[in-house]
Amino acid sequence: MSKLYVTSAAERKISRGIQCLEAKDFQELKQTDKEVLLYNKAQQFLGTAYLSKQNKGVGWFVSKEKITLNKAYFVALFRAARKRRSFYERSDGTTAYRVFNQDGDFFGGLTVDLYGDYALFSWYNAFVYTIRQTIVAAFKEVFADKVKGAYEKVRFDGPAYDSSFVYGERAAEKFLIAENGLKYSVFLNQGLMTGLFLDQREIRKDLANGLAAGKRLLNLFSYTAAFSLAAASGGAKETVSVDLAKRSKELSQAHFAANAIADDSHQFLIMDVFDYLKYAKRKGLLFDIILIDPPSFARNKKQTFSVHKDYPRLISQSLDILTEGGMIIAAVNAANMSISRFQKELEKGFSTRRHTYLSLKQLPDDFAVNQADEKSNYLKVFTIKVEK
Ligand code: SAH
Repeated sequence: MSKLYVTSAAERKISRGIQCLEAKDFQELKQTDKEVLLYNKAQQFLGTAYLSKQNKGVGWFVSKEKITLNKAYFVALFRAARKRRSFYERSDGTTAYRVFNQDGDFFGGLTVDLYGDYALFSWYNAFVYTIRQTIVAAFKEVFADKVKGAYEKVRFDGPAYDSSFVYGERAAEKFLIAENGLKYSVFLNQGLMTGLFLDQREIRKDLANGLAAGKRLLNLFSYTAAFSLAAASGGAKETVSVDLAKRSKELSQAHFAANAIADDSHQFLIMDVFDYLKYAKRKGLLFDIILIDPPSFARNKKQTFSVHKDYPRLISQSLDILTEGGMIIAAVNAANMSISRFQKELEKGFSTRRHTYLSLKQLPDDFAVNQADEKSNYLKVFTIKVEK
């Protein structure tokens, strides 16, 4: 294995527990997509890492020991990861959750989710992808009693596909999983999305458990309207879900049908959210809760959505159609946006309107985070009460 020297700043960050490596951590970096042994300038051994480009990173620190990334190594990682989630395994109200989460489980670049009887691997960089057979073999051994079949998502530029079947029994094209007693319709082999973002589970739980009772809820960037379904099951009077993807309507209706919730008072609109906000203002519509969960980056024919550029106007335009004393639930899904930076963007939108932050939710505990690295807790969701 080749030797690589890191800067003293990088040595300090590694000893603090940060695993994500960047180009500036190395004195010189010519290679990629391989395992390396890290040393400091004084020739002291620091640990094993691998190099591979992933977003702004160039690789991951793996272990303070000299290790080989073989099947036995991953078996041990998966055993520990499975043990940490024994709570979920015992619950029959929730059958979809993350069983391996990158650096939170001590191996960056890889996530594994369970959707009922099926596993979903996500490869985040070219190196993890090249050793995927070793990883899959280890996983199969640890989860043999639990998982019937597996699929994969390719989340980096390289292979010419983004989704594929991996092993075992094939899942139905669409099937149901349970979450806190509700059913959701999911699919594992179409594009990168699955019909449900598992990381927003806690928000759905709040909506189902009273937050939305008797309320009118507007769900912006609704995708499959999972928030609306949770709210409807929790007694929301009315929900309006807005997303510009054409498929979102039938996918949303599938969640409602799975729970036998009539969708008479639940609308699914295929529309740009800014067009809807203008329309709702013109019509004098009012909502008690407005949920905003945009993609961190999206393109449509007309515009590019950016959290920095667009969040303030999403808030200010939402205020125009919010009842007095209503609530805004604002989410952002971006490792590179800190909590304080997000709050600054929100404040621009609230301007002089009085408001109170009720809560901040981040990733649920199956999405194990690396406590040493704030970036690994990428999800931030504020619930904000707007005063009269
Ligand atoms: N809130 C959803 C996930 C949102 S994913 C959930 O809980 O499941 C982001 C969604 O935003 C995608 O479905 C995408 O189609 C939609 N989107 C992106 N730009 C949009 C726009 N300008 N108007 C409406 N929807 C948009």
